[in-house]
Amino acid sequence: MSLNKVSVDDIDVKGKRVLCRCDFNVPLKEGRITDENRLVAALPTIKKLIADGGKVILCSHLGKPKGEPKPELSLKPVAERLTQLLGQEVKFAADPEVVGPNATAAVAAMQDGEVVLLENTRYRAEETKNGEAFSKDLASLCDIFVNDAFGTAHRAHCSNVGVSALVSTAAVGYLMQKEIDFLGNAVENPVRPFVAILGGAKVADKLNVISNLLEKCDTLIIGGGMAYTFLKAKGCEVGKSLVDDEKLEYCKEMIAKAEKLNKKLLLPVDTVCADAFPNPIDAETEHQTVAADAIPADKMGLDIGEKTAALYADAAKTAKTVVWNGPMGVFENPIFAKGTIEVAKALAETDATTIIGGGDSAAAVNQLGFGDQMSHISTGGGASLEFLEGKELPGVAAATNK
Ligand code: AMP
Repeated sequence: MSLNKVSVDDIDVKGKRVLCRCDFNVPLKEGRITDENRLVAALPTIKKLIADGGKVILCSHLGKPKGEPKPELSLKPVAERLTQLLGQEVKFAADPEVVGPNATAAVAAMQDGEVVLLENTRYRAEETKNGEAFSKDLASLCDIFVNDAFGTAHRAHCSNVGVSALVSTAAVGYLMQKEIDFLGNAVENPVRPFVAILGGAKVADKLNVISNLLEKCDTLIIGGGMAYTFLKAKGCEVGKSLVDDEKLEYCKEMIAKAEKLNKKLLLPVDTVCADAFPNPIDAETEHQTVAADAIPADKMGLDIGEKTAALYADAAKTAKTVVWNGPMGVFENPIFAKGTIEVAKALAETDATTIIGGGDSAAAVNQLGFGDQMSHISTGGGASLEFLEGKELPGVAAATNK
């Protein structure tokens, strides 16, 4: 997949109608936006299009209205907040069919540098099926398309993929460009040594990520719940730890693959364990550290131990590129967050390019206060995992190549 895409810096939008797909999928409570990070993150691309004299038509999905208008999932509050953040009116086109009389009239009346926001794209049933009629409706509103929504890049929908095929230029915005530069290029052309760190709950969720990263990296580090299936595959006693018995063969294959490719595969050497999974998750829990190959039969591993954390931190410090996805333990509980904190610290201290996959890993790094010390924290959970799997992302592939 070519990752060399036409960006908003390469196009001339003066006087043109530009449809910009953003990720305005913000949490709402009683019509109020409770976290506006995604709106703030979208501003640089929008401001660039305004400054260059485009007629800026914004669109996004919000929640899961399942193909029909749901007033509680209207983008109207987003138009109001964007108006304040941009310091200029963002006119809301309230069509239940998204591209209807309001949108058409609003776009027809636009002056250069003005902004219109369309209604929630998922009000239309075709959106998530990439149906032609809605893609054509969207394309009819614009001369140029810009995609800045990385969170949906792993899906082929009308508002990212369908519309791209119907316009002469489909460029990427600054947020998409950053994800492509960091996640895409880190995996495809890493500056070596390249260390990949994987954790999180289950092996089954990350089969292709493990396999692909093993091929691309120099060292693969495994922590979190998924480590115990690997340990059991090596013949270790893992007690009551989370184990995916159906994936034991897979783990054996990966251990063999690492040997064959001459890659380092690091597994825990010690582990912090308890009698049971903490309930509630942050409950004070009795715990002890034991060797990773001798977990008592009645105990469950819930974090990597101190020796393992030091080993992983050292390995990360030798790297020029580090990609990390998934916590090293049950980080929601301070008792079992230490392994994740040690790895996060090591990444914060290194000069290497440090890239954090979206979802739980991004949440863990931010929650632990290391967010601003990483080179890049991906905004897309599913999309960032598919980049790590080496898959072609439809939303990226659809953008025009340079
Ligand atoms: P994921 O969404 O796959 O990245 O998994 C994140 C979740 O894995 C977090 O909620 C952690 O609490 C959980 N987790 C991490 N380590 C363990 C472990 N040793 N046993 C059970 N769950 C774990």
